[in-house]
Amino acid sequence: MSKKVELVGAISGIRRIFPGRKPVRNGLLALGFGLILLGIAWPPSDAIVGSEPTDGNISLTLPGQSDRQSQVPPTSAPTTAKAAETQPQAPAPQSQPAAQPTPEPSAEWTTVTVRNGDNLAAVFNRAGLSARDVHEVVTTDERTAELTRIFPGDELHLLIDETGALQGLRYEMSETQVLHLSRADESGYESRVETITLERRIAEAEGRITSSLFNAAVDAGLDHGLTMELAAIFGWDIDFALDIRRNDRFVVIYEELYKDGEKVRNGNILAAEFINRGERFRALRYETATGDSNYYTPDGRSMRKAFLRTPTDFTRVSSDFNPNRVHPVHGTVRPHRGTDYAAPPGTPIKAAGDGKIIERGWKGGYGNTVVLQHGTRYTTLYAHMRSFANGHGVGDRVKQGEIIGYVGSTGLSTGPHLHYEFRVDGVHRNPRTVDLPEAEPIAEQYRADFERSTASLAARLDALTSTQLAQAGE
Ligand SMILES: [Zn+2]
Repeated sequence: MSKKVELVGAISGIRRIFPGRKPVRNGLLALGFGLILLGIAWPPSDAIVGSEPTDGNISLTLPGQSDRQSQVPPTSAPTTAKAAETQPQAPAPQSQPAAQPTPEPSAEWTTVTVRNGDNLAAVFNRAGLSARDVHEVVTTDERTAELTRIFPGDELHLLIDETGALQGLRYEMSETQVLHLSRADESGYESRVETITLERRIAEAEGRITSSLFNAAVDAGLDHGLTMELAAIFGWDIDFALDIRRNDRFVVIYEELYKDGEKVRNGNILAAEFINRGERFRALRYETATGDSNYYTPDGRSMRKAFLRTPTDFTRVSSDFNPNRVHPVHGTVRPHRGTDYAAPPGTPIKAAGDGKIIERGWKGGYGNTVVLQHGTRYTTLYAHMRSFANGHGVGDRVKQGEIIGYVGSTGLSTGPHLHYEFRVDGVHRNPRTVDLPEAEPIAEQYRADFERSTASLAARLDALTSTQLAQAGE
């Protein structure tokens, strides 16, 4: 095990199964997968997957975060894993402020929970406060105005003195922000927002495919978000509908976010490996000082391509790229210079790559059409749109994945579909098979930091993979 690996919690080995919530979860998973990884054939039944999840909480030094390795205390003395396991965890940060202004001695905090149909007035009323109190509070500043948008289940902590006057208020505006209100003087209140830093812990999961990535991920304890992220990271190299084979394997190192010692949710995948039909793919997350994050291969190449393979979620390919096709409307031999993706009307169409809009409007038989220019060599064309996305015009820049329009059947079209063309140096190429250029590799200025900050993750992946192989008796 890498010296930088520090165990702060024992490996639990407990499968992350959420009793009683599985049908809901599975439903969401299936829905999300269906939308994003369209075209995946689901296994007909919930096949049992025999992978061994080891998703204990193991703390690594985290790359690419604000607290970089320089702030991690160096392991000057060799620490045995056992000693580290029994080490007590650092006390969780308190969400309550240390320096609350001392209230009137007789004032007391009470907690009121927002119910269905409640507004702030109703909540205050239940606590014995008046409409005037509501007005004073929400008009204090723009932060307290947020209190007009409270939701059922939210909690308001109110400090009320013996005369029934509101002296203070505390409200969790979000996962990481707490609004504090205190009476400043007779005339009103003052507010401040406390920002809470979530504690990050490292977890690991591993799986082996017996039927589908979906089942293996559920069995490995990955939630919906992590599974989608895993598929997105490797989706540029692996076609999860066609390429997946039994005994494909994956290991994932990811963050878990904690507040006051309680897990809030999963964070990002930090590193992952996928072995598909014997071929190994490895991804490491790197975040620049400016907060841009991306996944790279260990040698710094981007996991992404410069273009999406398909710019929309489609139900089927209704017509392939074909230089000798008989045109369905004209009945004459006319080349089909693109790919037709049948999809329900209104399905979003995404920019295949970062680029600039060079055409946007009616284009003869193409109907409503957008043409994007990507650098000097590439253009992509999107035809038969029902409508364009709002807020764009010719000359505007768009990012990869940004919605540029919606599937329709305008122009010479036999049904709702996206006609998509991909041109390299002005020559039409088959969008489904053309070699897609990689996105930019890690910038030179960040390369040294990338290598330094991902070294421990790469070592951990090595260890996990060899354990996995040993367990499988390979
Ligand atoms: Zn077409």
